[in-house]
This record gives sequence, C-alpha cells and structure tokens, in this order.
Amino acid sequence: MVNRQTTTFLKQRMEEAGIRPVSKFGQNFLIDLNLVNMIADSANLTKQDIAVEVGTGTGSLTGLIAQKAGRVITVEIDQNLSQLAQEELASFDNIIFLQQDALRNKNNLSSLLIETIREEMAGVDGARLKLVANLPYNIATPLITNLLTLDDIVPTSMTVTIQKELADRIVARPGTKDYGALSLWIQAQCSPEIVRIMSPQVFWPRPKVDSAIIHLETDFNKRRRIPDLAYYHRFVRNLFIHRRKLLRGVLVSVFKNELSKQQIDNVLEGLNLTGKLRAEQLAVPVVFELCERFREIQQQEDKAL
Ligand code: SAM
Repeated sequence: MVNRQTTTFLKQRMEEAGIRPVSKFGQNFLIDLNLVNMIADSANLTKQDIAVEVGTGTGSLTGLIAQKAGRVITVEIDQNLSQLAQEELASFDNIIFLQQDALRNKNNLSSLLIETIREEMAGVDGARLKLVANLPYNIATPLITNLLTLDDIVPTSMTVTIQKELADRIVARPGTKDYGALSLWIQAQCSPEIVRIMSPQVFWPRPKVDSAIIHLETDFNKRRRIPDLAYYHRFVRNLFIHRRKLLRGVLVSVFKNELSKQQIDNVLEGLNLTGKLRAEQLAVPVVFELCERFREIQQQEDKAL
C-alpha cells in the first residue's frame, strides 16, 4: 500500500472492500506519493519518536511513518477504512490502531487517544510526540489547538496537511486580514512554517479548495513564558470577538465584570497602547504582555477577596 496510493489503486481497493469515500469525514486521499513522502520527511521522525496520526485512511502515510518512528498511534473514525488499513499494514508491529473519533464533543481530544498517548510516552525514555497527518479539514483547528493545551503530552512538532486558508491564518503577521486568535495562540508557542501549497488535483476525490502542508515546531522556551495557558487562550479569543471594534472598546466590553475602565486605561497607557488601535495590529509579544497585566490585576483582586 505504501507505494501504491494512486487513484486507480484506491478505487479498485475500495471497490473490493465495498466502500466509497465519505465526504462528511473529509476523505480526500493524497494520490501523489512525492507529497506523502514530503509529509513524512518534514516530520523528521526518529525511532525515539511516537507519531500520532489522525485519519488513517487507507494507511499510506501510516506505513511510511511507521518505518521512521518508534511507534505510531493512528486514529480513524471510519470503521471500514480502519479495517482496510489494518489489513494493508498487518506486517507492522509498531502501529496502534484506534477506530474512533479523535475528538470528544467536537472540541476536546478523545480520552482514549489521550490515555494511549500517555501510556506510550511512559514506555519510552525521553520519548517525543509528533503529530503527522493528512487531517480531515473539519477537525484540524480543534485538534491542533487542543494538543497545545495538555502539558504532559504536548507534541514537539506537528506536520500536517490542512486547508490553505487555515495555514494562512496560523502563519499570519500582525496587520493582515488573516491575523487573529489562532495566529496568536500558535505563534506564542510554536514556530510555524508552510512547507508546500497543494492544489486539489493531488487528492482523490478532489476537495474544493487548496491545501497546505504545515510544520509547527513547538518552542518550549516560549511556552514556559506563559504562566497560565488557559487564561492566555481565553484572552486571545476574546480579543477578536469584535474584530471591527477598537482595542479599548473590545477590552472594556469583554472585561466589564472584572476590570474597571480606569484599570483598563492604566494598563493600555502603561504599554503605550493608546489611540485608534485594533487588536489585529498587535504583535505576539505585545499581546502577551497585555494579557499578563490583565491576569495579574485579576489575580491580585481574587487574592484580596
Ligand atoms: N491519511 C489518509 C491519506 O493521507 O490519504 C487519509 C486522509 S483523509 C484527508 C482524512 C481521514 O480522517 C479520513 O480517512 C477520515 O475518515 C478520517 N477522519 C475524519 N474525521 C475523523 C475524526 N473525527 N477522527 C478520526 N478520523 C477522522
């Protein structure tokens, strides 16, 4: 299977198994072997690594990463595909197949997936976790975002195929239309890089939009500088709730029950953030500083109660 993922092969193999691609699961299979290799190579896998793949599909990428990583945990929601991949990859003894939804309640990671990752990590000294996947479009954001929230199993890198529009938002610079909460959440913890833009032709069936392979290298020094990840996450999401409003207006409205206008103005003046500024103009370190000032005030007030 590893070397055979062409449209003809896929159609024939799926017909034999009596199945068809299911669009609601984002089943767009990569049919360009060079690109499948590019994903696996960009992940820089070693035998010390535990690779997690979400969306086993027919197993073409799974087989490649299993040759490079120590162990692979691969998750597939579609029972038929999971079974087909298990048949194709029966000769590997370092792949754990989970047949289930990688997410719980659409937004959190599945408990079984988290437990399996924890168990595997505990079994290898100095184990590093890497996400390597051709992701289904509709779960890419919650998956990537959530993997950065769990301290003990944060991946050292994520090398994934996602919608190009999402990749643009992840790498966006301040002052651009794509810059927002996702850029600020990821760039505060990772160095993101677009490896390759891909047109719909490299998939079967073809999706309607362009895709991109993106590599996110986690920067643990940056991460350590965020004392309260959950607070920072909420803060950056709140900043972009009213994208058209000026920064001060957004902060006053979001924090109306927690901070007075005077406190907010003092913070903004202290950071030289006065005038007609919008959140989308602020660089990552500035937002981080702003978030910390707000957090500290709230912490002091909580203690005083
Ligand atoms: N890895 C294969 C490849 O590269 O050709 C398939 C990639 S395809 C874009 C995405 C795969 O993710 C599909 O096989 C789909 O069934 C699976 N999938 C979709 N939603 C999922 C979910 N919530 N949890 C786990 N797998 C999911």
